[in-house]
Amino acid sequence: MAKSIFEKNIDDISTKPMFFEGFCYEGEFKRKEKVNIPQLSELEVMRHYKMLSDKNFCIEKGFYPLGSCTMKYNPRVNEEISSLKGFLNLHPHQDDEDAQGSLEVMYKLQEALKIISGMDYVTLQPMAGAHGELTGMMIIKKYFEQKGEKRKKVIIPDSSHGTNPASAVMAGFEVVEIKSDKRGLIDIEELKKVLDNNTAAIMMTNPNTLGLFEENILEISKIMHNNGSLLYYDGANLNAIMGYTNPKLMGFDVVHMNLHKTFSTPHGGGGPGAGPVGVVEKLKDFLPAPTIEQKDGKYFRNYNHQNSIGKVSAFYGNFSVLLRAYTYILMLGRDLKKVSQDAVLNANYVKEKLKKYYKVAYDTKSLHEFVLTTENLHSKGINTLKIAKRLMDFNIHPPTIYFPLIVHEAMMIEPTESESKEVLDNFIDVMIKILKEADIEPEKFDLYPLTTETKKVDEVLAARQLNLRYKNEK
Ligand SMILES: *Cc1c(COP(=O)(O)O)cnc(C)c1O
Repeated sequence: MAKSIFEKNIDDISTKPMFFEGFCYEGEFKRKEKVNIPQLSELEVMRHYKMLSDKNFCIEKGFYPLGSCTMKYNPRVNEEISSLKGFLNLHPHQDDEDAQGSLEVMYKLQEALKIISGMDYVTLQPMAGAHGELTGMMIIKKYFEQKGEKRKKVIIPDSSHGTNPASAVMAGFEVVEIKSDKRGLIDIEELKKVLDNNTAAIMMTNPNTLGLFEENILEISKIMHNNGSLLYYDGANLNAIMGYTNPKLMGFDVVHMNLHKTFSTPHGGGGPGAGPVGVVEKLKDFLPAPTIEQKDGKYFRNYNHQNSIGKVSAFYGNFSVLLRAYTYILMLGRDLKKVSQDAVLNANYVKEKLKKYYKVAYDTKSLHEFVLTTENLHSKGINTLKIAKRLMDFNIHPPTIYFPLIVHEAMMIEPTESESKEVLDNFIDVMIKILKEADIEPEKFDLYPLTTETKKVDEVLAARQLNLRYKNEK
């Protein structure tokens, strides 16, 4: 077997002439034929990528009210800052001494997230919301192990995001689901029924995935803490509460935050994200190493944590995502509160306007998002999927559909703070127009969308045969 150049000893390499084409050394590794690089002009390459991007939908193209996902605008200044050469060219193995600027940014982002979440310590390592959940659940597991307690159970309401039970199970817990009450909130009696000394934690989202605030949160946290259990806050989306309240005030012990939702970093197409985790004082020893710390004005990576759950990412997380989120936070400062205000106002404006035409699933005071149901349109042969497909013909990305699972024919709408009244009014008009179309020509809905690159797809086939090749290739 040929040895890779990395296995050669250093003397061997330094005495041989180096050939830069292909970064190879003369001899056994030198390429015999010319490299077959496609010969294309810059213009041809640009056209290719433009064509690919035109096939996609993005927030710069149109309204994107994807509930729970918080598809807000990603300000260009974030891109400018994250592509500064000093950040881009820094190697993660560089000594602390030479990386003070980057360490300072990470440290200060941690500080900002501590203020926003109310938590005492923050790690930036997790690379997604679900990854943050797993990290948080591992911390909770280790906490009980250290106490010599074998608690196996995690309670999760039926309105939860699907990643919650998945993360709890991956961390080695058993999940117990509890039913929401008639108002879409946690039913305290149901909670008490399943709570026992085997219960490690409850995982909650507040406001929950229906966009409703869990009014009894203080009572719930008291019940949990009296039982020796912890509270996990799924803070993927903080758009409703920033500057008004925080998970610490509600009594939570661990929280993850999606920088790619609340803090405006891009998250299309499964791209890089960040799911920092905050914890209260008593859980700080279990955070992933290294932690980014500061002493006497010097920033450093601290690997010295005996009870750490270990590393959860290579290096320190998605650094360029962290830069973008930090930029967003600095640009807004105290106006982050206004983000929440506008996000809640926009959602309620759309809800109140659409309420006369569509059925709202839980029509109580909602926050940054709300859920419609099209259950009542079944008799017309119309369902949520058909309305979602038709929206695409109006250059609107469909809202989140068929989630949360507790609402039949759900359509979850989150406009975010990014949008103007004109955009919201247009969406409302289109939704009303679609309803009228459904009255007149419901059969046409089997054909929609008509204007998109890919037309009506065979959903069953797509799920059974995962062929992602271009549609003309069989
Ligand atoms: C998006 C979301 C998650 C998961 O975040 P990812 O970054 O996609 O892993 C978890 N919980 C809620 C409520 C979310 O909206």
